[in-house]
Order: sequence, then structure tokens, then C-alpha cells
Amino acid sequence: MYDKTILEQAKALRSGEISSLELTKIYLNRINNLNSEINAFISIDEQGALEQAKQADQRLKTADASLLTGIPIAHKDLFCTKGIKTTCASRMLSNFIPPYESHVSEQYKQHGAVMLGKTNMDEFGMGSTNENSFFGKVKNPWDYSAIPGGSSGGSAAAVAAGMVAAATGSDTGGSIRQPASHCGITGIKPTYGRVSRYGMIAYASSLDQAGVMTKTAEDAAIMLSAIANYDCRDSTCANMPNVDYRKTINNSIEGLKIGIYKDHFSSGLNPDIANSINTAIAELKKLGATIVDIELPHSKYCIPVYYVIAPAEASSNLARFDGVHFGYRCDNPKDLQDLYIRSRNEGFGEEVKRRIISGTFVLSKSHQGEFYKKAQQIRRLIKDDFIDAFKSCDVIISPNVSKAACDLGVMKDPLSMYLSDLYTLSVNLAGLPAMSVPVGFSGSRPVGMQIIGKPFSEAHLLNIAHKFQQHTDWHQQQPTISEVID
Ligand code: GLN
Repeated sequence: MYDKTILEQAKALRSGEISSLELTKIYLNRINNLNSEINAFISIDEQGALEQAKQADQRLKTADASLLTGIPIAHKDLFCTKGIKTTCASRMLSNFIPPYESHVSEQYKQHGAVMLGKTNMDEFGMGSTNENSFFGKVKNPWDYSAIPGGSSGGSAAAVAAGMVAAATGSDTGGSIRQPASHCGITGIKPTYGRVSRYGMIAYASSLDQAGVMTKTAEDAAIMLSAIANYDCRDSTCANMPNVDYRKTINNSIEGLKIGIYKDHFSSGLNPDIANSINTAIAELKKLGATIVDIELPHSKYCIPVYYVIAPAEASSNLARFDGVHFGYRCDNPKDLQDLYIRSRNEGFGEEVKRRIISGTFVLSKSHQGEFYKKAQQIRRLIKDDFIDAFKSCDVIISPNVSKAACDLGVMKDPLSMYLSDLYTLSVNLAGLPAMSVPVGFSGSRPVGMQIIGKPFSEAHLLNIAHKFQQHTDWHQQQPTISEVID
């Protein structure tokens, strides 16, 4: 059952083939077998999950059940879950038990989904490999020597390994799309503002966006429909009606205009990635799509722009963790200053400290104009490029990453990690929705394709991805994990 989609499981729950309690036990068993190796979960709420499953089984007998009722899911460990430890993969929050529920987890609760636990991630969402976690690195289920991608690496690995039917993620600069790509699953980062950030621990507030990671585009539509609703507790949440993304998922894509930016496919791109994406584009052409050449001339600046803006916002968001208001407090401080310094020094990991330092620097009075203001100006130009490009196309297709997952421990130098974000950052800087869809392999490691849409075009993206998945089987490939006896 763990290899089935949400939709298939929902049918099985209704036909009486399986109960939510049985399904939940299958997954918990699988997590117990696999987590010591893959490390996708930071915490597992076994008792809570069994309890929710029993309630779901009751609800499934009524008309009140939704497609998510009784489906086992997990949340990236930056969504506050009332009464359940939420760590952001940081020592700083290693004992934090939120007194309230995030919008995202609350919506799934209301649907009666079963929350199995909280998934591993790069500390505070900062990273592209999921190696920056206080709770240890996550392994890629396709190849244990490879990174799963970050920062939502735990969620991606959990879905790919069948430890959960679907999981939530967040994407500030690629953290849903990159791990989805590396783990061979489907992921969608919605338009900025489409999903409330209430109760999602902040990294860079003008870029952070919650989204979902699933086996298929249809599952992503089910998952996203549950959380894409207006929430007045996040002032940047779009006041738009709720959408059932499954309604339009089967629409024809005849006449679709796909924008391609040649530089995205230049020499820096691994040939396996280029070939897989080109084959996928050929498939979309068979379904009636045409190709349009577009220009995104300022996107080459996305790395310096993002790595000024995101750390700047992070340095200010993370100022609250001072050992007094929130988070870890050091032992026996000498005085207040010592308490601040040692709590932050001991509580934050290397990469987080690096970002706080660079973020504080670019915001300092003497350098603000030179860095932060400039970065915001270029951010506008990057966004304007997309606005221009979308005058001649409906979506843009590009890679998510320049090569398949690297080995664990290889991306040691922070700069090489920042450079690996080349294809995903401009989407967040422009606030656009984008997906990663599996399109092939490079050796044993999965390859994904990025589909970028106009603001609030999630329904269209899911429609295109679904049509593609109806004609291909990349999304059905699963890693062979032989150690497990179910
Ligand atoms: N890799 C990027 C960073 O480290 C993006 C991470 C994310 O989307 N949360 O900031």
C-alpha cells in the first residue's frame, strides 16, 4: 500500500480494502524499518497517528470525509504543530513544543489526514543538500551515498521511500523543487501568498512559501487544494477563493506555449539533465504544445541578489532567538551579554551563523545602499523579465538543478552550494509558482524538470504535469529498498 498514491489509497479506504488504522500501521512500520538509515524524520508521533487514524476510520463512514481523511502524511519540521516538537532542525529549537498549530497543519487536521511525524530539513531551511541539520544528514532513497537535496530533503526522501503518502515542504529558493527533483517525486511551490505562512517558522519572509511533495501531480492537486485558502493571520496571504485543483487537471493542453530560455540549457548543464528535459518537452509537443524562445536576461544575477536578500531577512527573523524570548539558552551565563552570545553561538549551526553574519553586514547602515537596496532593484528587473516573457508564453520550462544529486559530503564549500541554486532562485525572487516533475535518470539518480507559471496559475501547472504523467511513467518509478521486510 505504501507504493500507492493518495487517490488510490482514498479509494481503498472507501472500498473497505483497508482501514486508516491498518494503513497508518503499515507506514509506521516502514518508518521504523527505514528511518535509522534514511533519517527522513526528526520525530515520529506514533500514538497521535494511531489515534487520528481511528478517528479517520469513524469519519470515513460519514459524508463528512474528504479525499485526505485517513491518509498518512508528514510535515516539514518548520510547521508549528500544537503539542508536538517543532525544531526547524536546529539545536536552537530542539526542545520547542509549539502552543499553536500552523495554518498548513491545521488544514490537514481538519481534513482528517493522519500526521505521522515531522521531517528532517536543513536548519531553518538554509541549504540545498539537507546536510545542515542538527539531527544529521538525510540520505537519498535512490542511492544512500547521494544527497536528497534540500532544504525539504526529509519530506522528499520520506515520499520517495514510501514512508508517507505525501508531505509538506517549504520553498524559499528551491527547497521543494530541488529535493523533489533529486528524489524523483512531484513537488509544487505555489505563488507567493497562495498558502498562508501562519505558524511556519520564518527564514526569509518575502520569499518563503509552503507547498507540497507527492508521488503524482494529481496527489499534489489534492494536497494543495486543502491548504490554498485565505487566512487573515498572514497579511501577505492572497485573499482569493479556494480552488479545487483536481477539477481542471484533465483539461487538454493543446495550444500550450512553452517558453524556453536558451541560456538555461547552455554548457553548464549536465547532458543527462538536458536530454531528459528535451525528451519531456517532445512529449508535451505531442500533446499539442509549441515552443517559444524567451529571454530572461537578468536571471543570471539571481544568486548574488538572493544571497543578499535572503540572509538579510534571515538575520532579522532570527534575532528573536536570543536565549530569552525564544529558543535554546546556554548554561550558567556570566551576564546578559554572555547569555546572548553563547546561546546564539551554541544554538545555531555553521551555515545559519554564516547567513546571520552576511545578512547583518548587508543591512548595516554604511553598506545598505550598496547591497540590500541594489539587490531589491535587480529583483524587480528579474520579475519584469518574467512579466515580459509571459507575454509570449504560458509557462517556462527549465532544469531545477544543473546535475543529478551529488554524493553526500561533496558540497562542502558554501559557495558551490549557493551556485547550485541557479535555476530555482529567480522564481522565488519573482514570487511565481513552479513545479518539479520527474523526467528521467542520470545513472541511478532521478532527474526533474521545472515548470514555471504565471502568478496564481497553479491549476494550469498541475494540469500540464498531470497530462505529462498520464503519458509517461517516470513518476511511477520507485527506488528498490531491499532491507525492508513488510
Ligand atoms: N538553497 C537555498 C538556501 O539555502 C534555498 C533554501 C530554501 O528554499 N529554503 O537559501
